[in-house]
Amino acid sequence: MDNTSYKFGTKAIHAGAEPDPTTGAIMTPIFQTSTFVQEYPGKHKGYAYARGKNPTREALQKNIAALENGKFALCFSSGMGAIDAVIKLLRPGDEVVTGDDLYGGSYRMFTKVFANYGITFHFVDMSNAENIRNFINSKTKLIWIETPTNPTMQIIDIEAVVKIAREHKVISAVDNTFASPYLQNPLDLGADIVMHSVTKYLGGHSDVVMGALVTNSDNLYEQLAFIHNSCGATPGPMDSFLVMRGIKTLHLRMERHCFNGRKVAEYLVSHPKIEKVYWPGFPSHPNHAIAKKQMRDFGGMISIVLKDKSVENTFKLASSFKVFSLAESLGGVESLVNHPATMTHASIPKAEREKAGVVDNLLRLSVGVEDIEDLLSDLKQALG
Ligand SMILES: *Cc1c(COP(=O)(O)O)cnc(C)c1O
Repeated sequence: MDNTSYKFGTKAIHAGAEPDPTTGAIMTPIFQTSTFVQEYPGKHKGYAYARGKNPTREALQKNIAALENGKFALCFSSGMGAIDAVIKLLRPGDEVVTGDDLYGGSYRMFTKVFANYGITFHFVDMSNAENIRNFINSKTKLIWIETPTNPTMQIIDIEAVVKIAREHKVISAVDNTFASPYLQNPLDLGADIVMHSVTKYLGGHSDVVMGALVTNSDNLYEQLAFIHNSCGATPGPMDSFLVMRGIKTLHLRMERHCFNGRKVAEYLVSHPKIEKVYWPGFPSHPNHAIAKKQMRDFGGMISIVLKDKSVENTFKLASSFKVFSLAESLGGVESLVNHPATMTHASIPKAEREKAGVVDNLLRLSVGVEDIEDLLSDLKQALG
């Protein structure tokens, strides 16, 4: 099907999913095979070995490309596998400018793995994109951004960052995990690469770990596909099938995540035990105007800072929910609560973490798609 001619929900359901030519099966089969038989050497049906290419994964890749309005997508065995492939576009001596409020795993990979290969990373407050200019030099090859940021929900102006990247002929890449393609499409704003932890909203059911990259550039796609196959962080067909199934309801889930997110944020902001609520939908959010410009809605990710600073009481609250579950991850149908300082962001040193606002009395909520009445009464009883 022509990926560009339909609206989002139709693409979520149909893009990449052709009826199986041999049986007519409407669902893409799970091609659970490692290899493909050849008639004679080199003569095959387009598939030789499943690390390189698998039909189930290919269907999913077409689907994700369509959702991001991109020409090409590659799926990886995790979000980190996808980021790893992007950094492998670089060479020793190259420099990267990135945000100071990154997913903990990205920060860990940049500082503990790729720093050892001679790549330098600058962690910059990007809430004002102009700050980036101070860190760009002739060695800069990549600007890596995440927006909304995790967990303090800062908004970075993608268009403004892309403009700076283009002026300096630097690759711009956006980790679009928190927004999902339903809320934000960085390629439309000029970004070169979009990355997803498919584990989160795209998969949506907390049953798969996967990553993806999307690009419109033939040149970047060729390099990334080479790394994909050479380094081998490719996902299996069963996981690809599960994600395709999950994506069919992405638009429906996102509508509910946004609706519930707004209700939860509005409830919490006036709660006497809460000091601060981070959510880009509030007009008082410092970059609300940019969020409004580049996102379709504000999503279901919310962080709260408690008035009570004690870590014991923060832990007590985190473990007293009945509908929200205490767990890492986000973007699934079920509501989760997470303590970033000791869970998702534990790999960031305390001083760095607190500079970015990730204090010990901060909790992050991934608001799921349950009934809002039950979520609000759960918050009320836990805070009470
Ligand atoms: C989870 C996450 C990742 C890493 O993805 P995995 O699928 O867990 O490897 C990267 N970026 C963000 C923003 C994430 O939330």
